[in-house]
Amino acid sequence: MNARRLVILLVMLALMVSLEVVISDRSSGQAAAAPPVTASPEPTAEPTPTPTPYIDLEKTKPNEAGEIPILMFHAFIEELDPEEKYSDDFLRYTQSFSYLRELLGRLYDMDYRMTSMNDFLNNSIEVEAGYKPIIFTFDDGTPSQFSLIEQDGELVVNPKCAVAVLLDFYKEHPDFGLEGTFYVNMGRSPFYEERTSGTILAGTLQERLQYLIDLGFEIGNHTYTHCDLSSITDADTIRQEVGKNQAAMYEAVEGYTFTSLSLPFGITTPELFEYLKSGSYEGTEYRNLGIVEVCWDPAIPPVNPEYDPYSIDRIRSTGFMAEACDFEWWLTQLRDPVYVSDGDPNTVTVPEDYLSLVDQSRLGDKYLRVY
Ligand SMILES: [Zn+2]
Repeated sequence: MNARRLVILLVMLALMVSLEVVISDRSSGQAAAAPPVTASPEPTAEPTPTPTPYIDLEKTKPNEAGEIPILMFHAFIEELDPEEKYSDDFLRYTQSFSYLRELLGRLYDMDYRMTSMNDFLNNSIEVEAGYKPIIFTFDDGTPSQFSLIEQDGELVVNPKCAVAVLLDFYKEHPDFGLEGTFYVNMGRSPFYEERTSGTILAGTLQERLQYLIDLGFEIGNHTYTHCDLSSITDADTIRQEVGKNQAAMYEAVEGYTFTSLSLPFGITTPELFEYLKSGSYEGTEYRNLGIVEVCWDPAIPPVNPEYDPYSIDRIRSTGFMAEACDFEWWLTQLRDPVYVSDGDPNTVTVPEDYLSLVDQSRLGDKYLRVY
């Protein structure tokens, strides 16, 4: 009996001690959170140069003067129907979901990591040291790139679209990143189609665009009607094609400003080019920091003396019909220098031999490190 009482007493004592610890912890937490009674003015700190984080240059071999592949995708299907006759263009611009899945795995193993078009345009690439940035762009807003379906009363990503493949891969490889820019024509109902091979798509225009933005993707301008810009002969129509697309975007998603334009069919208008860069349509201003082409080269980075933000190269991703200069071809040809990140968006690191590929007046607030 006495022994039992002793145990109870000891347990109570232990409880009191632990309670005391909690109470004193709380009070010390409160004390720490409370503002200081007296605040003595701090002297203004001298501006210090941006510190450069240590990385093993020999191991990571960064070269931020190198080229970056910007891929261009259009449409995806499950597989070709052997009974059907397809046009060459369809076969060029369409690929299977399983190819995309396999490509992501290959790029990951080749040390590529996702970066965004906006980070590229701002020369602010945040890829881990020693890894190579890659950019995905999707033109035309096809539902096979991204679409929504309804499931138990909720909007979810259609499992038969490229974004579902990207999300799945990202879940298994979070360090690969999840980025991409979708160039849309607001006059052509992006990410929706009446006829969708048996799948009933859902979501209003606003819901579709907002969903994509909430997933962390970017949306860019591809003109309002996907026009052939070379056939337009007056500035007003150019302003309408670019500006009306922006106005429709503001109407769908308040405050969402396009920062880049993808040329429909890759066709430009040399005479009226200025109106592609910036202008206004019925009171809606637009300004493109970059214009991307349908071209056959990896892109040179913004610090390169030859860099032209209004002529950014892209590489067509390989469709069912492979061709010279498409991405699979490029993977066999990738030339020196390839962009390899130093892991710090504030620093531009280049090997000494590549210093001529950096125009120092284009560094802005970035710190140049040469090794
Ligand atoms: Zn297009």
